[in-house]
Amino acid sequence: MSDFSARVEAVSISGIREVFEAAGEGAINLGLGQPDFSAPEHARRAAIEAIRDGRADAYTENKGISSLREAIAAKHERDQGLDLHPDDIIATAGGSEALHIAMEAHVESGDEVIIPDPGFVSYDALTKLADGTPVPVPLRDDLTLDPAAVEEAITDDTAAFVVNSPGNPTGAVSPPEDVEEFARIADEHDVLCISDEVYEYTVFDGEFRSPAEFAETDNVVVVNSASKLYSMTGWRLGWVHASSRRIERMLRVHQYAQACASAPAQFAAEAALTGPQDQVDEMTESFRRRRDIVVEGLEDIGLTVPTPTGAFYVMPEVPEGFVDECLERGVIVVPGEAFGAHGEGYARLSYATDEESLREALDIMGDAYDAVV
Ligand code: PLP
Repeated sequence: MSDFSARVEAVSISGIREVFEAAGEGAINLGLGQPDFSAPEHARRAAIEAIRDGRADAYTENKGISSLREAIAAKHERDQGLDLHPDDIIATAGGSEALHIAMEAHVESGDEVIIPDPGFVSYDALTKLADGTPVPVPLRDDLTLDPAAVEEAITDDTAAFVVNSPGNPTGAVSPPEDVEEFARIADEHDVLCISDEVYEYTVFDGEFRSPAEFAETDNVVVVNSASKLYSMTGWRLGWVHASSRRIERMLRVHQYAQACASAPAQFAAEAALTGPQDQVDEMTESFRRRRDIVVEGLEDIGLTVPTPTGAFYVMPEVPEGFVDECLERGVIVVPGEAFGAHGEGYARLSYATDEESLREALDIMGDAYDAVV
């Protein structure tokens, strides 16, 4: 008998961490996937009050407190016109757990899961942990996921495909007609579409649409999270919404693995969802400004860079040795291959950092580029 399961041996610790560890002290970190804002003040206050009043001491319902689930349903009604029942929502420990329970509940041993390549690191790992086989689909040149490529990759073994718009690591937003296509594919092929919408609020050009708006079957599971919507990564509060039968299956995993999401975080997220939304606009505006600075700076350096339309990442094509040269000179960027084989030749930069550091980093990256070409 081996010490560890084959499933866990099939995954490794994310390559992103290795980059951080290789960097010297004082490096400018363009590797981090978190907004550099505080959580909204009213969200923090709601958690403090819940703790002070003794309302956050006990387990909550497995799915989460009903007032939070009502706030999530109201958010999706407000933003997408969806008519969700609060019982068809599970509050989770971030979008990460939401993705995990979606995979565990729907992927059988040997099933295939179609994932974007390059794509967020968890899709490959969570598929393997569910004993499935990831099927990476290369993105288009503009770094969006091509519905035709997804449809072509479907086999009799396909359990699900993952859509992530706005995307990590690309910053690309799928146009509405593609989102509609994803819903049609899920309906017609009877495969599950796992729609990871955690960057929903960070869209600069175009508009955010969810496959859940278009699907005629219940073949869409939506993952979202307070992490990036409200700059609350540390609170660990996300959610999943789907049909009752899918929620019931995902709850079986959530109940045994997690019992319930952290109670103080649930109160904070409820306040974030129901309170003033000005911080969301401020964050988006600030990311848009920084996006412009970074894209212009990278183009001036001579790099080819698809202009990101959302999230806070940019993925330029980079020459060999560029990432290491940046690291050596004190700027942390993540090699594209950390996000899949087709990420090779790219680097991911997060611009969730202040403008002064961004400008300094661009200068250094210019020198790094000159040193390697
Ligand atoms: N999905 C995507 C695309 C992400 O980039 C992340 C985090 O970086 C997550 C999900 C998970 O976020 P969290 O668990 O903090 O909600």
